[in-house]
Amino acid sequence: MHAFDYSAPSTVTDALRLARPGSAFLAGGTTLVDLMKLDVLTPDQVIDVNRLPLRGIRMRGGLRIGALERMSDVANHPLVASTHPMISRALLLSASGQLRNMASIGGNLLQRTRCDYFRDVTSACNKRRPGSGCPALTGVNRGHAILGTSDSCVATHASDVAVAFVAMEAQVVLRSRDGERTVPLEDFYLLPGSTPDRENVLAPGELIAEVVVPTLSWARHATYLKIRDRQSYEFALTSVAAAIDVKRGVVQDVRLAAGGVGTKPWRLRAVEDALKGSVAVERTFADAAESAVDGARPLAHNAFKTSLLKRTIVRALLDAAGVR
Ligand code: SF4
Repeated sequence: MHAFDYSAPSTVTDALRLARPGSAFLAGGTTLVDLMKLDVLTPDQVIDVNRLPLRGIRMRGGLRIGALERMSDVANHPLVASTHPMISRALLLSASGQLRNMASIGGNLLQRTRCDYFRDVTSACNKRRPGSGCPALTGVNRGHAILGTSDSCVATHASDVAVAFVAMEAQVVLRSRDGERTVPLEDFYLLPGSTPDRENVLAPGELIAEVVVPTLSWARHATYLKIRDRQSYEFALTSVAAAIDVKRGVVQDVRLAAGGVGTKPWRLRAVEDALKGSVAVERTFADAAESAVDGARPLAHNAFKTSLLKRTIVRALLDAAGVR
């Protein structure tokens, strides 16, 4: 591990003042420390933000979750579980119990891809070393993305709860020395294009302070369905966050986003549009799910994700709507 300076300020102002190019904010450490041990990340300064007052879960203009809240605390909070069960479920299906007790919500949204080439410093990787190439394009790519990819990078975004947040149109509140700004989470993440090393709109020295999730009365009719190779401590092959409002058997409104298939959490707007006003039965769910893979670019080993994604959407909708 490379040597680094360490500080643990107690105010946001001090943390932002300390930040400089080459520094990193440390919360739960479940991504940062992991990648520092592998020499994938080599910050020369680590700013421990755990003493900052960025906690709290409350209802004020939507569900507000402090960036330093731990995943397990958010998942089990009565306010979250009762108003946004999809978010609780996405968190509880993430990582392991030990990791959920350490990892913060802000850190979860900033976690790096699980692409093995990215985590192996002896491999080329455009995300880790711009311009060096992308061995996943022709190498082992079973777990990689089929949506939002480019010729420079095909890595998936690994977060589960980000998928639920994007479905619910959550926003992130960002703080920097220049003040505060609020960004829809869907726009916070960038497509890889020719610069896969730039994953989000965070400016240097800016940090996530809070996540704000709008309240929807029908968000209780929701689920997060995660398909993976084993039922514990594994990343999604596909996942779907679904919330649906059905009245007299007809879909009034719906929210859908997918994980495990996109280079960022993937909102399924075409599927939502196809569902609105339709009869809430399996056949119409399956017809609507066809448009989920428009524009998909499967690789040699992950073509199965196109049909798996469509089937995951149908199952999630059936669960959320209570249709059997
Ligand atoms: Fe690197 Fe992205 Fe290619 Fe993986 S898919 S090797 S992260 S450039």
